[in-house]
Amino acid sequence: MKTESIIEIARDCGFTVAEPLDPKTLKHLPEVREMCAADRCQSYNKSWSCPPACGSLKELEARCSQYDKGILVQTVGELESSYDYEAIMELERRHQKNFQKLIRHLRELELDMLPMGVGACRLCEKCTWPDEPCRFPELVFPSMEACGLFVSQVCKDNGVPYYYGPNTMAFVSCCLFK
Ligand code: SF4
Repeated sequence: MKTESIIEIARDCGFTVAEPLDPKTLKHLPEVREMCAADRCQSYNKSWSCPPACGSLKELEARCSQYDKGILVQTVGELESSYDYEAIMELERRHQKNFQKLIRHLRELELDMLPMGVGACRLCEKCTWPDEPCRFPELVFPSMEACGLFVSQVCKDNGVPYYYGPNTMAFVSCCLFK
């Protein structure tokens, strides 16, 4: 499928920005992945979508290397200040919703793809990890950080801005495909 067609679908899903991503630019950095284990986002070892359940850095790197096309999507929003946590959480929710919508559309098209999102999967109120199988494995994907990707660098390497000025924030995800 052509990248332009997928970008069009992504824009219809509500993203502020949808641009091509060249998978060859991706660098899978152990130091980014190590931030997951430091558990700053409190999701490490708590979800099928996060380390260690989502696979090792080497495994995810190998999965990424199977794809030759990609897109980068952003949901950009304004905040009252950099401490405006309510607006940040709302923007993240909006971005996750946009991304789930995009993935559902692309699954319907039977696209061979690897989505990489933001943070842990939030589809269920409580994740079944590690006691039961995932409830919606077809809708679960790792975060960009779990794949060792330094998000602002990925944007820069693909000519997409990451910073949109004071009191703004951009949530970023990507999707690789064939
Ligand atoms: S779909 Fe539910 S069980 Fe599966 S990773 Fe997401 S939260 Fe966990």
